[in-house]
Amino acid sequence: MSEFNLIRRYFTRATPNAVLGVGDDAALLSVRTGHELAISTDMLVSGTHFFPDANPFLLGHKTLAVNLSDLAAMGATPRWATLALSLPQIDEPWLAEFSRGFFALAEQHGVELVGGDTTRGALTLSVSILGEVPAGMALRREGAQIGDEIWLSGAVGAAALALAHLQGKLILSAEQFSVCAARLHQPQPRIALGQALRGIAHSAIDISDGLLADLGHILQRSGVGATLNFAALSQAILPLADPVAAHRQRCILAGGDDYELCFTAPVRHRAQLQEIGDKLGISMILIGKIDSKLGCRVLSAEGAIMNIEEHGYDHFA
Ligand code: ADP
Ligand code: MG
Repeated sequence: MSEFNLIRRYFTRATPNAVLGVGDDAALLSVRTGHELAISTDMLVSGTHFFPDANPFLLGHKTLAVNLSDLAAMGATPRWATLALSLPQIDEPWLAEFSRGFFALAEQHGVELVGGDTTRGALTLSVSILGEVPAGMALRREGAQIGDEIWLSGAVGAAALALAHLQGKLILSAEQFSVCAARLHQPQPRIALGQALRGIAHSAIDISDGLLADLGHILQRSGVGATLNFAALSQAILPLADPVAAHRQRCILAGGDDYELCFTAPVRHRAQLQEIGDKLGISMILIGKIDSKLGCRVLSAEGAIMNIEEHGYDHFA
């Protein structure tokens, strides 16, 4: 099969919201008036981000999901995507499943694939996602203010538990693994939540490398510090039994790959945020407060500063 037939068969769909989609030297897009274009790129590399034999349907989902998550964290509405693929060989059953997983999630969010690139090489999947956000309304990392409350959507740590199980670092029961693996392989980007947070949250980030690492980016960009309550954070892990309890702290504080949102908002929005969570069916957990003392402290249930050794994931650390 030629490169062009491959693109036509697996990656060409109708793109009614684009001026011009796949097939020319570039796609043509027009952004609605009063909006800014939000663009983000995320790459998944075989052996680094996924196992080489990973299920291709789930990989198609995740390749797009991690990109959608970045737009969620900006409060943007995803509209278009491009897909750069490096493939070791043409494996049609693999491509059929990968594209099915990709387009299933794309359709769910109204995203059109408008272009990309296809080459031979080590398996690498790179998406650029394009979205729109009303001018001046994007959620940035730099807006956290002293006195803001720090919130977390949904649950963290489960994806890290599934990964640890796959790596043989711990053993989950079959039931635990199925719950955690769904979080690892099929993250649900918090697009609707990101949009609902526009005009309410002062800052936001999605959690891909671990809560402390990603919250750290907000703190650094905003020039502030934070104090977290571990008791509140403990509500953020899915209810799982021992022996997982021994790994609870690490998974909550440093477990990546959950793609939840961490954001800060003034105290006066507390009730409104709970309502947004109720409406979207997402638990919203108040985990701490922004303060002027730089760095991030985690308080135990007894109020003592905990000794934290966990750090998030860094590809070059
Ligand atoms: P060029 O040689 O100009 O870079 P290509 O031959 O790489 O063009 O691509 C032809 C068309 O197919 C372009 O519109 C490009 O955006 C699109 N395309 C290539 N690979 C993919 C892909 N994996 N998914 C979607 N569109 C793709
Ligand atoms: Mg090309």
